[in-house]
Amino acid sequence: MTTPIDLPPDAGRSWWLREALDADPGEPAPPLDRDARADVVILGGGFTGMWTAFFLTEAEPGIDVVVLEQDICGGGPSGRNGGFVNSWWSALGELCARYGDEATLRLCEIGEESVRAIGRFCDDHAVDAWFRPDGDLGAASSQVQVGDWADDVIAADRLGLSDMFEVLDGDAVRAMIGTPRLHGGVFTPYGATVQPARLARGIRRVLLDRGVRIHERTPVSRFGAGTEAIAETPGGSVRAASAVIALNAWAAHWKRFRRLLTVRGSYIALTEPAPERLEELGWTNGMGVWDRRAALHYARTTPDGRIAFGIGGMQPGLARSIGPRFAWDERGVRVAAQDLVRMFPSFEGVPIEAAWGGPIDVAGHHMPFFGTLEGGVVHYGLGYTGNGVGPSHLGGRILADKTLGHESDLLSLPIVTQGPMRFPPEPIRSPGAFVANAAIRHKDDLEDRGEEPSPIVDFVARLPRRLGYDLGP
Ligand SMILES: Cc1cc2nc3c(=O)[nH]c(=O)nc-3n(C[C@H](O)[C@H](O)[C@H](O)COP(=O)(O)OP(=O)(O)OC[C@H]3O[C@@H](n4cnc5c(N)ncnc54)[C@H](O)[C@@H]3O)c2cc1C
Repeated sequence: MTTPIDLPPDAGRSWWLREALDADPGEPAPPLDRDARADVVILGGGFTGMWTAFFLTEAEPGIDVVVLEQDICGGGPSGRNGGFVNSWWSALGELCARYGDEATLRLCEIGEESVRAIGRFCDDHAVDAWFRPDGDLGAASSQVQVGDWADDVIAADRLGLSDMFEVLDGDAVRAMIGTPRLHGGVFTPYGATVQPARLARGIRRVLLDRGVRIHERTPVSRFGAGTEAIAETPGGSVRAASAVIALNAWAAHWKRFRRLLTVRGSYIALTEPAPERLEELGWTNGMGVWDRRAALHYARTTPDGRIAFGIGGMQPGLARSIGPRFAWDERGVRVAAQDLVRMFPSFEGVPIEAAWGGPIDVAGHHMPFFGTLEGGVVHYGLGYTGNGVGPSHLGGRILADKTLGHESDLLSLPIVTQGPMRFPPEPIRSPGAFVANAAIRHKDDLEDRGEEPSPIVDFVARLPRRLGYDLGP
């Protein structure tokens, strides 16, 4: 019998962001209050927008860049996420089947360069973002998930990446994290965790030092482009030779991107510090762990001994627009808090100090895409599908190269050359996604309890994949 879990109230912001702002509120970045001109205007002050500004100023120190953010930088998912910093190694098998071995290897290696470069950025710019490069564990939280990694391991062997994955049986995985709920898994030394809001606020500080004009609390209400781009906001407009759209899930509100993204929610519960219980689990480093469910769980520690535990694939209602339930949803955070204790029973009784959520920009192939609108003035990067902390650094490099017209190797990566898969139009899409999503989660939950889903639940859960999307089981 488990004790009921008291949920903390909605604090309005993630614990990460509150902690980062307490440590350093940063210089003010007031709202835009006049009409302005710039070389480049960037819409969105998350990792994608800010890394793009960073790489623009790396390449051309005198460039005039304006960032427009409706909230504060890091107020979106960049300051709310689980803090897993990864490339795409854990999707190796699937990506090889889609892009071919050579292109996949290049993509994953370049993605891995970003993981290391984020660590170097923190060192070089004195950003204390708790960067811990302690690897990544993809584990089975039910017997059904055991062996789910076979395609990735086979692909790694074929590519000669013999050190990439260490396959662990139940005993070996429990020697890494002593919870009875893990039944085997794959460890890779690649991957890190960060305090994501500290990273976001750190990039912001570097940009301000470099003269980038950041306007927070500045929503872009209208946007257009011809020979130049113009972004209108309540206090003024910005005209620029180029623009970058780095709006994550909010881009799904734009007609042009509506069929390219579907939005899901992810929710996190964070415990109070319990370092002695982490010691008992034998899990005191920065290794991230996630399970192989379709609606996955992910968990990581903090240096002061907490667990941050998240659940993906949630859908608050029909989710036709990004409302407040994406930031805090009673059901979403309750599931995260309950599943935390189910996954780590020794944490029963440790209070949940904070809980929050955020929207996920799901792309049909589960991979981000980078493109340029006709006219050549406006570039975009979207669709990270819940794996954007590491990849948005690469995204910033790609978008800076596109904006500056650099003919770089990065522009031949498949995430640039291959457009995303389209989703069905409304009114089919939202109810269809709702039903499929409910079936996916139900199947996962049953399997976690050792039960078998009914044929109809199984059929509906598998439907998105049967239709060609890389979503669901
Ligand atoms: C709960 C949760 C957990 C996650 N965990 C992980 C993880 O552990 N590892 C991982 O790799 N990824 C994770 N992700 C995904 C990751 O956070 C994102 O992929 C990444 O932050 C994307 O960065 P971005 O800059 O593209 O988007 P964002 O950080 O969302 O930035 C976009 C910005 O645009 C702003 N904006 C929107 N509309 C407007 C407008 N009209 N005008 C001006 N500004 C606007 C928003 O306020 C927002 O700040 C998680 C996401 C969530 C929600």
